Amino acid sequence: GRPARVSVQLHPYGQGRKLLLSRDVTAVEQAEAMRRDFVANVSHEIRTPLTVLTGFIETLQTLPLEQADRTRYLGLMGQQGARMQTLVNDLLTLSRLEGSPAPGAGEWTPVGALTAQCEQEGRALAQVLGKSHELRFDPAPEVEVAGAQAELLSAMSNLVSNAVRYTPAGGAIHVQWRLLADGGAEFAVRDTGPGVAPEHIPRLTERFYRVDRSRSRETGGTGLGLAIVKHVVQRHGGELRIASAPGAGSTFAIQLPASRLRPAVRPPAETAR
Ligand code: ADP
Repeated sequence: GRPARVSVQLHPYGQGRKLLLSRDVTAVEQAEAMRRDFVANVSHEIRTPLTVLTGFIETLQTLPLEQADRTRYLGLMGQQGARMQTLVNDLLTLSRLEGSPAPGAGEWTPVGALTAQCEQEGRALAQVLGKSHELRFDPAPEVEVAGAQAELLSAMSNLVSNAVRYTPAGGAIHVQWRLLADGGAEFAVRDTGPGVAPEHIPRLTERFYRVDRSRSRETGGTGLGLAIVKHVVQRHGGELRIASAPGAGSTFAIQLPASRLRPAVRPPAETAR
């Protein structure tokens, strides 16, 4: 990497003596550059829908419009509002994940319940986007993973949502849990979508990194989904694995660690009435 840059300062210290202070400023400068990039990205993401919104407001205020046009403009304005809402929600999720300690031990979540909810959200999204995929969810194993339910669900749902959004109509999505040899568990989402070229793969979890900006936007993407997934998985001591190639589809998988698995407790059988 780059050689470290060192800042040296001489501070007056006692009777005519000087204290030599030195520190590596490379890391500080890098952090500062990342912060600037982030602020620039957020501003850009917000500016676009805001420009559309203010434009339409002006049009509605100044032009005599037919009712049909008014309705259409208001619909478009609603879309831009929703877009900003999603962006702000994702930003808040990220900042919560970064600023809070990892979830404490002791919270266990049955993967069956997570998967059911994830499936419901995935099917709803496919319907909203009018996608006619084959969307297959295999039955989840009867185990629990350690972790906060809402966080784990948001990571899983982000992967399913990406598969639904990026896979063209007529494609197939397959969602499946697998128990690993070391006792861990893997949640994998496989799709027959466009795939991702190798040079992009390491960067997909960066905030606002998108292979195709307009494709992401069209389908309601914020560019923050995989950054959220990465944070959640890291906090749980797990790993995000990506296998993808252009034209060959993608598999995004979350591996959760071994020692945290235990069989799910079956609910007591319902008493007959
Ligand atoms: P976005 O909101 O843009 O989807 P993400 O962080 O979820 O943001 O994903 C980052 C980028 O990774 C996407 O813009 C897209 O280019 C790529 N990507 C993510 N999932 C898939 C997928 N299943 N198939 C193809 N490309 C994907």
